[in-house]
Amino acid sequence: MSEISVAGAGMAGLVAAARLRELGRPVVVREKGTRAGGSMLLSSCVVFRHRELEAFRAECPGGDEALQRLVWERLDDAIAWLVARGAPVVWDETGNPRTVGKRFDPRGLVDALDGDVVLGVDGRMDGPLILCTGGFAASAELVTRYVAPAAPLRLRANPWSAGDGLAHALERGAALTGGMDDFYGRNMPDAAWDETELVSLSQLYARFARIFDEGGAEFFGRDQVSWSETNVVAATARRPGAKAYYLLDEAALSERVRDRTVADMVAAAPAESRVALGDLPFAPPEGAVAAVRVVASITHTIGGVRVDERARVLRHDGTPIEGLWAAGVDAGGIATGGYASGLAQALVLGLAAAEDAASR
Ligand SMILES: Cc1cc2nc3c(=O)[nH]c(=O)nc-3n(C[C@H](O)[C@H](O)[C@H](O)COP(=O)(O)OP(=O)(O)OC[C@H]3O[C@@H](n4cnc5c(N)ncnc54)[C@H](O)[C@@H]3O)c2cc1C
Repeated sequence: MSEISVAGAGMAGLVAAARLRELGRPVVVREKGTRAGGSMLLSSCVVFRHRELEAFRAECPGGDEALQRLVWERLDDAIAWLVARGAPVVWDETGNPRTVGKRFDPRGLVDALDGDVVLGVDGRMDGPLILCTGGFAASAELVTRYVAPAAPLRLRANPWSAGDGLAHALERGAALTGGMDDFYGRNMPDAAWDETELVSLSQLYARFARIFDEGGAEFFGRDQVSWSETNVVAATARRPGAKAYYLLDEAALSERVRDRTVADMVAAAPAESRVALGDLPFAPPEGAVAAVRVVASITHTIGGVRVDERARVLRHDGTPIEGLWAAGVDAGGIATGGYASGLAQALVLGLAAAEDAASR
């Protein structure tokens, strides 16, 4: 039996490798970074789907319908598979009426999936290969080329996902999906932060703020903000410096986001990002009592390599490239135009890739 290579030991790679081992296939996982887990290890680790397939379609209208259906239909069983492997559940439900899923402890999830991983190497190999390198968010050059932000985006993810899977697939004749300019990210405080603060410092209260750019133009109405707030981030990325100011009045400060008030979230933002009203580069709107400067930050790309429901990488004519699969963020075109769980996509396509590779 020929050995199957997995490039990347984040969510998709660890899932694919665990499934291949379960199916009795020899597998080698090669990871470019210094640790397994990828961005999954840094994440909130809520693996979810939209409650209804129609809602998924409506939320991400540019995505591939067959892939969306696959993720939606397989996710509940896939989550049960994770639980059966011993992945520790932190929340049994997402707490969001729109979605269904579970929150896992990320360290425990890595441990439940981890087998042997070769660290510090490029995983792109000859022979049967599953690309799970996590997209290209960490490449400023590729983000500038495809996403075209007004200024380089801060990275809110692992530092190693720099488009290696994409480059390898393109060299072998792969097609790209639409939505290459789409990304998932958060507006973060315009200040220094490190990878332990990526969740806690996300400024997730745009729906209560008035939003201005550096030039003082109000560019996004509160009623336009989507529930995930990712559309504000995309708009911020296209404003000068990829920055915005969130202006808050007393009523906004007393609103709640889960267990925290907006006032708590503002107080927790680093001091450099909290701007005195008199120091704003424009006149504050009437009633404003607090201002936070935020910067658009990218977690992962949404466009990528085109795959089918067996996670096989496709050429422009729709035929699969022999011995090449892509899963997770490397496989593009699922959440195009909106927001869906990157972990769900990585889990379901990681399983699909492993099962197809094992059946060869
Ligand atoms: C702060 C934060 C919060 C998040 N919260 C959620 C959430 O609650 N729910 C959700 O669904 N998603 C969430 N996400 C997104 C989620 O983490 C990603 O969608 C998911 O990890 C994608 O899985 P992946 O396997 O494609 O990429 P990753 O998990 O990032 O793994 C990619 C791996 O490939 C490696 N790699 C790169 N290039 C190479 C190469 N050439 N050779 C070998 N290895 C390589 C990288 O080092 C990395 O380990 C969050 C992310 C962050 C950062």
